[in-house]
Amino acid sequence: MIPLFKVAMTPGAADAVTAVLRSGRLEHGPVAANFETALAERIGNPRVLTLNSGTSGLHLAIDLATRPARGSGVPADDVPGEILSTPLTFEGTNWPILASGRRIRWIDVDPRTLNVDLDDLESKISPACRAIMVVHWAGYPVDLNRLRAIVDRAEVRHGIRPVVIEDCAQAWAATYDGLPLGRHGNVSVFSFGALKPLTCGSGGLIVVPDDEMYDRARLRRWFGIDRQADRTTGDYDVADWGFRFYMNDVAAAIGLANLVAADGLIERSRANAAFFDRELAGVPGLRQTERSPDREPSHWIYPVLIDDRSSFVRKLTDSAIATGIVSRRNDAHSCVASVREHLPGLDWVADRLAYLPVGWWLSEADRDHVVSTIRAGW
Ligand SMILES: *Cc1c(COP(=O)(O)O)cnc(C)c1O
Repeated sequence: MIPLFKVAMTPGAADAVTAVLRSGRLEHGPVAANFETALAERIGNPRVLTLNSGTSGLHLAIDLATRPARGSGVPADDVPGEILSTPLTFEGTNWPILASGRRIRWIDVDPRTLNVDLDDLESKISPACRAIMVVHWAGYPVDLNRLRAIVDRAEVRHGIRPVVIEDCAQAWAATYDGLPLGRHGNVSVFSFGALKPLTCGSGGLIVVPDDEMYDRARLRRWFGIDRQADRTTGDYDVADWGFRFYMNDVAAAIGLANLVAADGLIERSRANAAFFDRELAGVPGLRQTERSPDREPSHWIYPVLIDDRSSFVRKLTDSAIATGIVSRRNDAHSCVASVREHLPGLDWVADRLAYLPVGWWLSEADRDHVVSTIRAGW
């Protein structure tokens, strides 16, 4: 069976972990700091903080977007307000919104990209909007320039500027407008989970746009306690409480070892995707998603829209090619039944969407097999 996902672990990771285990410093050690420096350099933004998961990053991002620093003069909210988000994602995107006590307002899906429908998003920004969550689904970047223009217009209209949070969990190494994600003025969150393009086993990263938010993020990552301040006298103060989202050095050692190797693996995924783009074009009953010259996706999985999905999935399974729906549309879960709404784009997509393996583990024979299986019909 050609799997849909595979863990990308460089052989050097084992020695790197052994060194941490022998060092006697498992948490708050030097390796997480080194990993952070390397990630900041890679993204080209020094304001990065490593975390224990991507989901923690989303909890922290929502907190930063909606809870001002105490003493900053910005009043805390007395109404929960809402956060706009996409239902076509992993549940890890949306449950942090519920945890924050804010209401989810669903944005429809653009069938061409599988990302949020930006027209629907613009129409749903109201004075109740506290933040906007977008997902670079399957590693295909959202049109961030168009999104910025929408937020600019909303600011003129409503006098508020909601923070945009980018869920980049599947999009390590993706670029938009020539720059890595994490460089477009928003709060960006990456996952280094086991199946993600760059993995720590479990881990995440938050990238923020300015120094004020960076200082808040650094404190709130660890209980609101300033680790750099002198705490020996015991009279240190926590002005704003925070979380326990720190990345440990074992995870950081794995991530640091995988960081360089990930580039070559992602290049292979991109070559496989280019092959499918070319070889599956025009197959009757199959639609591909958008490509745009202003962005370079990570190609975590390869989405296709299929008219008769159940026979397609059966045919691929019988041909030893794994496929799947990856995540259930999040708005179908009963825990969010009260905020359900009509989403015609998602309705259309949800019945047709399937994913093909596209990662570095596909040999040339594997990808030929995928193409010839699909071209033979289902
Ligand atoms: C993997 C994933 C997450 C969660 O990341 P973890 O590191 O597993 O917490 C969130 N959003 C999306 C879109 C993901 O794919």
